[in-house]
Amino acid sequence: MSYKLFIPGPVEVSDKTYRAMTTPVVGHRSKDFVALFQGIQPDLQKLVGTKDPVYISTSSAWGVMEGSVRNLCAKKVLNVMSGAFSDKWNDVSLRCGKAAGALQFEWGEPADPEAIRKELATGEYDCITLIHNETSTGTMNPLKEIMAVINEFPEVMSVVDTVSSFSAVPVPKDELGIDVLLSGSQKALALPPGLAILSVSERALERAESLPDRGYYFDFIEFQKNYEKGMTPSTPVIPLIYALRSKLEDIFTEGLEARYARHERLNNLTRAWVEKNGLELLPPPEFGSKTLCCVKNTRDIDIAGLNAALKEKHNCVIDGGYGKLKGKTFRISNMGDETDETMTGLLAALDELLPEFLPA
Ligand SMILES: *Cc1c(COP(=O)(O)O)cnc(C)c1O
Repeated sequence: MSYKLFIPGPVEVSDKTYRAMTTPVVGHRSKDFVALFQGIQPDLQKLVGTKDPVYISTSSAWGVMEGSVRNLCAKKVLNVMSGAFSDKWNDVSLRCGKAAGALQFEWGEPADPEAIRKELATGEYDCITLIHNETSTGTMNPLKEIMAVINEFPEVMSVVDTVSSFSAVPVPKDELGIDVLLSGSQKALALPPGLAILSVSERALERAESLPDRGYYFDFIEFQKNYEKGMTPSTPVIPLIYALRSKLEDIFTEGLEARYARHERLNNLTRAWVEKNGLELLPPPEFGSKTLCCVKNTRDIDIAGLNAALKEKHNCVIDGGYGKLKGKTFRISNMGDETDETMTGLLAALDELLPEFLPA
């Protein structure tokens, strides 16, 4: 029944991580919990590149994505959209009763900093959402350039989703001037789903404090008040915090630079396979993600058939395309714990099966 996941989330979870999750739970108001929570802070802050606290939310990423808009937008939020996740953030903003501007780019195109500047220059906005690595299209936005533009507008709070890039490429929050950096557990971190992390700047906390209707579960002020005690607002998913602690050990044992280099190398292996097979990435290569490849199905491959055979014969699965790109693209993940061996094995299996699933 069990097979290996090469889909871009949830990704494969290591045995070490699963074992860490069987550590007995402790009371979430106990000294033991405070030690656990405070013990992982230095590594989390190092990974986020921040002096600010890193909060832990018992939710998937969408919880804190929605929460960020509720905490920070008083006037209007600009949603930078270029794929399934970023497009949905606009819908979520509207559902929270916020005024929202939709800055739409083609799926597979990177967001254009100039277009963002033009929109923010209207003065209508006090908040912006951006997805660093749009997982649905395998596109990595030029974060440094975009943050430089956003920081020209001091009133605008920036919320950056790094769900599928966190810890795989550097995203130095303080250096880039990001107000809220958030991520989820089941993609680049290779943990099971159910936990999100977020780090909030001081000025974003001040903004939150001035806003009504923040709700309770994702209220930044609640996160901060509890953080000061080494705790979370409500009972957290303690097994996943053990898993996170175990993963932080892995990350700093490997070393950050080595981890970044491994992602780049494995991504290049997949790109070479794509090229060798006469295929191409959906985004322009220089904006291609380092954690997955979203490949245009220009050869009319029977993706569903290929994937079924891959599962049957080689015990692993890739992804057949997300949302409106289903069947038109397929995606191969190299994020998390993948190695030269696992990626080479997958690509060899695909080579073996591919001819069977090409049109006659
Ligand atoms: C998967 C994903 C999300 C949503 O995560 P959930 O865990 O389903 O809430 C958000 N943003 C990006 C970039 C993602 O890849």
